[in-house]
Amino acid sequence: LIELDRAHLVHPVASWRGHEKAGVRMLTAAKGATVTDATGHTLIDGFAGLWCVNAGYGQDSVIEAATTQLRELPYATGYFGLGSEPPIRLAARLADHAPGDLNHVYFTLGGSDAVDSTVRFARYYWNARGLPQKDQFISLEQGYHGSSTVGAGLTALPVFHAGFGLPMDWQHKIPSHYSYRNPMGSDPAAITAASVAQLRAKVEELGGAERVAAFYAEPIQGSGGVLVPPPGWMAAMRAVCTELDILFVADEVITGFGRTGPMFACAEEGIVPDMLTCAKGLTSGYVPMGAVFLSDRMYQTIADHAGAAAIGHGFTYSAHPVSAAVGLAVLDLYEGGLLENGRAMGARLQAGLAGLADHPLVGEVRGRGMLAAVELVTDKAAKTPLPAAALPSQRIFDRAWANGLVIRAFGNGVLGYAPPLCCTEAEIDAIVERTLLTLDQTLE
Ligand code: PMP
Repeated sequence: LIELDRAHLVHPVASWRGHEKAGVRMLTAAKGATVTDATGHTLIDGFAGLWCVNAGYGQDSVIEAATTQLRELPYATGYFGLGSEPPIRLAARLADHAPGDLNHVYFTLGGSDAVDSTVRFARYYWNARGLPQKDQFISLEQGYHGSSTVGAGLTALPVFHAGFGLPMDWQHKIPSHYSYRNPMGSDPAAITAASVAQLRAKVEELGGAERVAAFYAEPIQGSGGVLVPPPGWMAAMRAVCTELDILFVADEVITGFGRTGPMFACAEEGIVPDMLTCAKGLTSGYVPMGAVFLSDRMYQTIADHAGAAAIGHGFTYSAHPVSAAVGLAVLDLYEGGLLENGRAMGARLQAGLAGLADHPLVGEVRGRGMLAAVELVTDKAAKTPLPAAALPSQRIFDRAWANGLVIRAFGNGVLGYAPPLCCTEAEIDAIVERTLLTLDQTLE
């Protein structure tokens, strides 16, 4: 299989750098919060796959729901006025959970095309309002919004841009709120004030609010290294967007579905965005699905105008009945105690990892709920990042793996954590203990 993998299977391009030479590590089974590899080694999946298996592996009710739906009706398009029951029921239940008036749900295949869809919806909305010149989009440095061409342009990853003319000329960035190495210092109020000023300045630079369609933010920047904004940051940015009549898009692809505690992180920020994107925990990784939530105002404005305008956007697998059936079963689990367990285990994870703060390699421990990061440094006072060449993240990942723990080892020496919400206390404690063991071995 390793030979066949090398010969034929194209992995995500970002992983070509090391995995291909080492040979693929195959997973063969998974249950709850653990995965087992082809050698029989069982590990705690401290990253829930790719921050997605929130409900845990092998949940019988999810498997049952998918199987039943596959038998009854495996496919129905949403075109031609057709539809099926699971996506209708899922949309209605999601609207109940969504903040404020985000009552309209557009299903996609994952997070990237959910983000792409928000760009289209934003343009349709402003066109419908007679403001087609509002066509500029702003996102954050260190943000991640997908790997599709439009999403990659909003994403702040140079490797996603080089050679593709990205970001496109209508895609702009302002600095992140990242506080550990922020030139503004670490004072939360100063960082928020700086972000507000940077957003206003960027809008001015682009010709004023009459040119700007939307601003994008993740409630916690995930792929940027689990960067938690200061309290009130999201609300302050939302307020600027409301004042200037710029759409605020919250990208909850990682933070949605209990990852930080509540169903959606916007709820704990006390904000209602104009659009919200989600994926990952929506189907908990069992099958692919993403979604865009639209506010009443946005949906109604676009719908009222739809007859008069050229509007076309949809996928073969939009509102897929099997994915929606899985979404409903996963939602039952969240409502039936999983979110509550996630909150308790999240507090335990944060406390446990905070206990590693004195370790000589640890610069900062941060996160919220079941989303956390440990940023490694070689000099705590100078906050010197780990030199990628001397201590490659792949080696830390490999050591953790040998110690029975899957974590994300970002290239810049940040360790990422996003365990399934079904973790037990013993599993959370083991995540912390195995991290300490891995750090000690890294020091040697
Ligand atoms: N937005 C955010 C915040 C994400 O973290 C991701 C994926 N990590 C995406 C969008 C893209 O989602 P997908 O990989 O499902 O296309």
